[in-house]
Amino acid sequence: MEQIYDIAIVGAGASGMMCALLCTRAGRRVIVLEKEPQVGRKILVSGNGRCNLTNAFVSAGDYRGTPDIAAAVLEEFPFQKCLQLFHGLGVLTIEENDGRIFPQSGKSTAVCEALRLACQEAGATFRVNSETVKIQAKKQFILTQKDGEKISANRCVLACGSCAYPQVGGTQAGYELAKSLGHHIIEPTQALCALNVREKAVARLQGIRAQVRMIALPDTPAEVQSVGEILFTNYGLSGPAALSVSGAIGKVLAQGPVAVQVDLLPDVDDKMIFLQNRIRLFGSRTPKAFFAGMLHENIANLLIDFAGLRKNELVQNWTENTLQTVAKILGGWPFTVTSLRPWMEAMVAAGGVNCAEINYNTMESSCCPGLYILGELLNVDGRSGGFNLHFAWASAYVAAQALTEE
Ligand SMILES: Cc1cc2nc3c(=O)[nH]c(=O)nc-3n(C[C@H](O)[C@H](O)[C@H](O)COP(=O)(O)OP(=O)(O)OC[C@H]3O[C@@H](n4cnc5c(N)ncnc54)[C@H](O)[C@@H]3O)c2cc1C
Repeated sequence: MEQIYDIAIVGAGASGMMCALLCTRAGRRVIVLEKEPQVGRKILVSGNGRCNLTNAFVSAGDYRGTPDIAAAVLEEFPFQKCLQLFHGLGVLTIEENDGRIFPQSGKSTAVCEALRLACQEAGATFRVNSETVKIQAKKQFILTQKDGEKISANRCVLACGSCAYPQVGGTQAGYELAKSLGHHIIEPTQALCALNVREKAVARLQGIRAQVRMIALPDTPAEVQSVGEILFTNYGLSGPAALSVSGAIGKVLAQGPVAVQVDLLPDVDDKMIFLQNRIRLFGSRTPKAFFAGMLHENIANLLIDFAGLRKNELVQNWTENTLQTVAKILGGWPFTVTSLRPWMEAMVAAGGVNCAEINYNTMESSCCPGLYILGELLNVDGRSGGFNLHFAWASAYVAAQALTEE
């Protein structure tokens, strides 16, 4: 007789494996279907191979898209619960700056293997190289695999992730499956992704890192800021500070290029007073010497060109106008973002299944009873710092509570 599973989970990534573990431990017969030859490929590449699995300061404010659903799942699965769970799986952790939590081994395999082994020990069935291409919601859910096999289950969980980073499994498949079951998709755009800029001169700064404040969409109601490291590249801006504002930029790029500014001295409130004080000390220098010790040499050279400063003029002879120009550039060097880097370089997707169609207390679909949707497939994206994986675990936890309570 054909076997009917209690729960079929599509996707053996972060949320799928967490959900499988908790449901199997509660005695449910669970099958996890993974199209890749290996489970958890995105976990493995996360955090530069170190896996920033959660954050000690996680809160709803760290999420965009639908922060309300993040708030609801965080209430059920706050940071402490997450840490306890992973410690219970045998993963030793360390906390780094800004509350970022990593496995102590420094390897993402610690997290992926802990989940995979615990699922195996609890008795979950895994199928790799098994892509679900169709789901029918009848008396049971019938999941058709690419090779034609049909798998039946009483409940179905979509944990397919987003289309970001296709080289490790990112795919549109989850959106298509959700649509076929009645859901609406908020068009995904790249997030945590580097920025292509129009100004070709940026290539002169390639490889240089600086601590800055990034201001995207300055002086508009949509303005977003991020303080941290920027990496100048031959095409534009990368590094955590640029990545953090990319989701907001992606949302409006369809309407045309987007202005951003780079504050090169984020700890200095009043750039004019700062410059005047510095001129008192070093005013007898030429601009290049004046900027030494303050800016990277290449940044200083580009700034000199950009501001039209005379290379041999002593800084103490600058006019008020010149001083203001320099202060303005230091506080907000303008760049124009023309596009985001391709999906191959985007760590997450902003957009996804419309959360208005999800019960926040259970993660169950309101379009298709018995269907649950988790993780990055939903219209929720977190900042850089462990927040996206935390949402994946937390949404899985909430769904598992609901799936195992009867
Ligand atoms: C380079 C990189 C670095 C990152 N670093 C971090 C970090 O340090 N901290 C952090 O919090 N977040 C990080 N993220 C984001 C984080 O990895 C994701 O948000 C998280 O993995 C999402 O979990 P998920 O379960 O929703 O999806 P995933 O983990 O992507 O899992 C989805 C799984 O479903 C499978 N699948 C899809 N469709 C089908 C189908 N039709 N049939 C069968 N299987 C299917 C996929 O192959 C995949 O294995 C990073 C992402 C990338 C790309």
